[in-house]
Amino acid sequence: MKFATFEHQGKQLVGRVSADGVRISPLPADSMLDLIERYEQLAAQIDTGHPATLLLDEVRLLAPIPHPRKNIFCVGKNYREHAYEFSKSGYEAGAVKGSEVDDYPAVFTKPATSVVGPNDAVLTHPQVTNAVDYEGEVAIVIGRRGRDIKRADADSYIWGYTIINDVTARDRQKNHRQWFLGKSLDTFCPMGPFIVTSDELQHNDIAIRTWVNGELRQDAHTRDLIFDVPTLIEAISAGCTLEPGDIISTGTPAGVGIGLTPPRFLKSGDIVEIEVEGIGRLKNHFV
Ligand code: MG
Repeated sequence: MKFATFEHQGKQLVGRVSADGVRISPLPADSMLDLIERYEQLAAQIDTGHPATLLLDEVRLLAPIPHPRKNIFCVGKNYREHAYEFSKSGYEAGAVKGSEVDDYPAVFTKPATSVVGPNDAVLTHPQVTNAVDYEGEVAIVIGRRGRDIKRADADSYIWGYTIINDVTARDRQKNHRQWFLGKSLDTFCPMGPFIVTSDELQHNDIAIRTWVNGELRQDAHTRDLIFDVPTLIEAISAGCTLEPGDIISTGTPAGVGIGLTPPRFLKSGDIVEIEVEGIGRLKNHFV
């Protein structure tokens, strides 16, 4: 099933999107976090649908989880070709030739305040950076609380999947020798348009593509992840509690702006679209 958070007549609502992607039925949940936590309990009402069905065109879609309860977990260098392009680009602080692929997943976070929704503007922050880049990513949404989750049990903790653009200020990422500052600017985490539940997608079988102003830049598949989703859940939950609604963005494939020669950064007026098979298309314009 496909769920969205949206605004209609001044109210923020959660709804189920129809199979044809045209309509949305409001659900009796206060928020997406509430829906995830009470999913079993609400199952009957979700199945029968709601009489007050709206056209998706009539509502404003928001990020599926507009205010995550903690930072968004992200994974760096999780596709081989991207690890090489990043290392070569000169924007990776401390890059060592021959050590492009890590032995353990590189995990960082983006703050909840960086989240925006589909069709929202992304600020280029020219007073802070002149090297804004996109990163199309498949993200997983956690469905239940857990710590020290083992690989073998990891699938049962996944509630669904969404799309994230891990927008990055490459100069901040390089100059400050860490990833948080470059990844955390306001509006740097477009998310959506929907969350698709885990019964409809396999985390190792998802195609992802990214376009900038209509030009295809990323075209990849999650079967090529260096650290697969169960490995990421095991690593991140080690001694650290994951809660319903927590988000793990699985990393971007090759084809980002710094992978081009010369690098091509985003500017005001650019449009980035990320399409994930089975979820939909996340489109944002940069200003
Ligand atoms: Mg990323």
